[in-house]
Amino acid sequence: MINPRTVLQALGRNVLDTVLPPRCVVSGDIVSDQGMLAPHIWRDIAFISAPMCDRCGVPFDYHIEDKTLCARCTDYPPPYQSARSAVTYSDAARDLILGFKHGDRTHALSVFTPWLLRAGQDILPHVDLIVPVPLHYWRLVARRYNQAALLAQDLGRHAGVPVCVDALRRRRNTRSQGHLSPQDRAHNVSGAFDITPKRAALLQGKRIALIDDVYTTGATVRECTKILLENGVSSVHILTIAKVKMSET
Ligand SMILES: [Zn+2]
Repeated sequence: MINPRTVLQALGRNVLDTVLPPRCVVSGDIVSDQGMLAPHIWRDIAFISAPMCDRCGVPFDYHIEDKTLCARCTDYPPPYQSARSAVTYSDAARDLILGFKHGDRTHALSVFTPWLLRAGQDILPHVDLIVPVPLHYWRLVARRYNQAALLAQDLGRHAGVPVCVDALRRRRNTRSQGHLSPQDRAHNVSGAFDITPKRAALLQGKRIALIDDVYTTGATVRECTKILLENGVSSVHILTIAKVKMSET
């Protein structure tokens, strides 16, 4: 016999989908399921896959036997163990992330969390704690939420890894990094972060996955890694949605 509750639930979903059909979070086109992207947006999303640098995750154009590190990581090893990003920073990725950052598109998590789970598949089983890059208090007020903290919480729930959203804090506000050179970016974030004193004990000996939305020059995540390592963390891995394509030097 058909369970009336099941029928009602199915009907409810159909009614809901008719009234509020799932839409692509970038283009607004109707799509088949929540979290899906319209086909023309999907085409502009470039997922990052091997071959790539073992440390910073920069994709290599082709596979070379025994080549595991890019030239930059060979000459200047980063303080973090590894960095991985889900996609290359394209126009569609930018629209998606900016919409998430400045709008109320928290449902973009249904897109991003699976991406982070995939990009972090070699990292997440080996970390003890997920920590987001912190947003300055005033920006938090202006934007109402820290997108990196939302990403971290949702990722932690799906990966089964504990999350500490306030392990790191900003000591001072930094200039927008948009038009700064790599050197200026590093200077801009130098000394900008510290750890929240009440979280100091929690961090001891922990292997951390540090979450941010975009990896540009890596100045911010390197600075956060430095602070975490100075405060008793044993290793740091970086996980971001998108990576800005830089020439491999
Ligand atoms: Zn590298």
